[in-house]
Amino acid sequence: KLNTRVKSGYMNKIFLELVANGAQEQILWDYKPHVGTDVLKIVVKNLREKIINLGGEFHFNTLIKDVIILDGKVKGIKIQNLKSPILVEENVLFDHVMLAIGHSSRDTYRMLHKHGVFMENKPFAIGARIEHPRVDIDTMQYGKMCSHPNLEAATYSLTYNNRDEERGVFSFCMCPGGVIVNAASQEGGTLVNGMSYSQRDGRFSNSALVVGVKANEFGDELFSGMEYQDQLEKKTYDIIGNYGALYQNTLDFLKGKTTNRKIESSYEMELKSYDLNNLFPEVISKNMKMAMGYWEKTQRNFISEHANLIGPETRTSAPVKVTRNEFGESINTKGLYPIGEGAGYAGGIISAAIDGFKVVDLAFATL
Ligand SMILES: Cc1cc2nc3c(=O)[nH]c(=O)nc-3n(C[C@H](O)[C@H](O)[C@H](O)COP(=O)(O)OP(=O)(O)OC[C@H]3O[C@@H](n4cnc5c(N)ncnc54)[C@H](O)[C@@H]3O)c2cc1C
Repeated sequence: KLNTRVKSGYMNKIFLELVANGAQEQILWDYKPHVGTDVLKIVVKNLREKIINLGGEFHFNTLIKDVIILDGKVKGIKIQNLKSPILVEENVLFDHVMLAIGHSSRDTYRMLHKHGVFMENKPFAIGARIEHPRVDIDTMQYGKMCSHPNLEAATYSLTYNNRDEERGVFSFCMCPGGVIVNAASQEGGTLVNGMSYSQRDGRFSNSALVVGVKANEFGDELFSGMEYQDQLEKKTYDIIGNYGALYQNTLDFLKGKTTNRKIESSYEMELKSYDLNNLFPEVISKNMKMAMGYWEKTQRNFISEHANLIGPETRTSAPVKVTRNEFGESINTKGLYPIGEGAGYAGGIISAAIDGFKVVDLAFATL
């Protein structure tokens, strides 16, 4: 899905580049452009080949173990080849480093913090995927026209505002005809995410149903939010004993009762029944229930014996921000340019791409 709320002059260039590298032309005019994982794999490969032809290099299985910083200035990076049977580390010297680490590189955040790179806590969101038979969502959105051949799998976007707590509950990353997938990146921790293939013709539709978490909700330390995500992923792993996911029917979640039957789902790894009220802290489960109770009355089919929660979904965005100045540089480390979702300045594919272009242009303007 390439929709974004960000508006930018770079947008046209990004979409044209994606089409030139194999994405569907439809994304140039569709108001909710979608590529799909199957096509995206080809686009990414083509983009990589283009970059290599222009003189760029890709180093797979290579960890940036350290950023070399002297007197508040970047001097280079230390890299480690993860495939080598012996420890091979190499210093590569540069005075400008664009760091696009994504939102889950917890060891890299800690390494930057150790060097004193300025970061701050930021809000994020936690919850679970909600999955329905696709036909239920198509009926919710299209009514009796739901099986019309000209209609694609239906999408939705739901929000609920808990005014007393100034907290939002919202659907996110809706995947019509899509699948729920495992998104773990650390040993001993598990979580889910969602995606669709280009045809969006799977039997199920899913989206994340998440509750906003305020910057210091889980503690005042810089990494309190990140540690909370980590604990939740590990707790889930310990309950299941592997990289599966927990499930609960939506009606049972509202009643605080474990689902005592198997469910049908697009998720292909192990699913274990669990009362998610016991997984999440009260602030998350209470707000999810408030929102779901409201949608039960207002959205046909949304809460039903066919609608299930599968979770947890912990990584909707970065829990910290690597703060930049107006030139796109870290505010206290010269030559370090934190970009994309990991820097806390983007929340999806297109906004991360826009951020990359923007910071590269800012950096070149000051060289
Ligand atoms: C299953 C799934 C589906 C998604 N679907 C969508 C969607 O439909 N639409 C959308 O807009 N967004 C979607 N997203 C989110 C989207 O992928 C991210 O917002 C986007 O990729 C962020 O781009 P980025 O370049 O900032 O970071 P990333 O794409 O996360 O890239 C960061 C890279 O840095 C690497 N890295 C981190 N630390 C180090 C280190 N120390 N050394 C070496 N390498 C390092 C990581 O391995 C990673 O490859 C989805 C995410 C997932 C997991």
